[in-house]
Amino acid sequence: MTPLEGILKAQIAAQGPMSIAQFMELCLFHPDHGYYTTREPFGVTGDFTTAPEISQMFGELIALSLAQAWMDQGQPAKVALVELGPGRGTLMADILRTLRAVPAFAKACDIHLIEASTRMRAVQKAALADYTPVWHDGVDSLPQDLPVFAVANEFFDALPIRQMVRDGDAWRERQVGLKADTLTFGLSEAAPLGALKHRLDDTKDGDLVEHCIAAPNIMCALAERIQASGGAALIFDYGDWRSLGDTLQAIHAHESVDALHKPGQSDLTAHVDFEALVTDLPCTHSRITPQGIFLERLGITERAQALAHNLSGAALDQHVAAHRRLTHPDEMGTLFKTVALFPKGAAPPPGYET
Ligand code: SAH
Repeated sequence: MTPLEGILKAQIAAQGPMSIAQFMELCLFHPDHGYYTTREPFGVTGDFTTAPEISQMFGELIALSLAQAWMDQGQPAKVALVELGPGRGTLMADILRTLRAVPAFAKACDIHLIEASTRMRAVQKAALADYTPVWHDGVDSLPQDLPVFAVANEFFDALPIRQMVRDGDAWRERQVGLKADTLTFGLSEAAPLGALKHRLDDTKDGDLVEHCIAAPNIMCALAERIQASGGAALIFDYGDWRSLGDTLQAIHAHESVDALHKPGQSDLTAHVDFEALVTDLPCTHSRITPQGIFLERLGITERAQALAHNLSGAALDQHVAAHRRLTHPDEMGTLFKTVALFPKGAAPPPGYET
């Protein structure tokens, strides 16, 4: 039994079953035993590998898209370059290295990182030792009145979700409870849920719908900044336009495991509902675009070929595999999607269409 499992069981025994959102929150961010507070999740030795950890090309192309968006908006002299959930800091380091080719933009950027885990902040500080980032708990403390050029990769999938199962015109919430001293899933009593009213139109009895409480608020706060002061936000994650079905997944040592397995020692994520991300925003958003198409539009194949000239043997094989992994429909190319936010009337950042 993991230390967190004992804590979860005691809490459920005392207070009754908890929502999936509470379970995720404790598993990921418990101050002593949470996944992000105690572990090094990323990379070959960790539990999963993200796009920036697969290849530098991911961050390079994002940097160029952001730089062009900055030029299209008149090259403001001071901007906030923001990353939400920077992980090991690899993506931001790749972006900043690439921006040396666009010195005026690099000079305009103050770096701001939104990160909940103190442990991850220390890792990011080391990765970005050549720069002076400022850390934040959320979007609200970002500097006022500056254009915001933001990126988020695999950030929204880590935010806790509620899972609701339709029962007539109401919903029963999926919960984590105890049966014979073992953690198990169960369902609450039925109750109406205003936020899911529109889903009564396209679901039937027994369907499961996921609902991330924090995501729309974060998106709305970002969109307000972008609409008021300019900028853009490029969001990458796996998921689709509208959530349907159970997508809660746990990964431990690159293997998919049961979501109740080793609480605090497995990564827990859920697919992102992109419709919920972009509904009712005060700025414009692009179409949802598969990651593979976005990267191809920005010339990843040409960039891959250029980098391949200097490689041979195992390094070349690895580079070719990385290109395929980021773009191929059977790998991350289609499952992962991207959407951009930008001010009404501005051009979409390169790689996106409206
Ligand atoms: N973007 C990185 C890491 C993705 S993992 C990459 O692509 O490799 C998710 C990251 O978001 C971690 O750094 C985690 O600590 C952070 N995070 C998760 N929930 C958060 C929250 N509510 N607020 C701020 N940061 C959060």
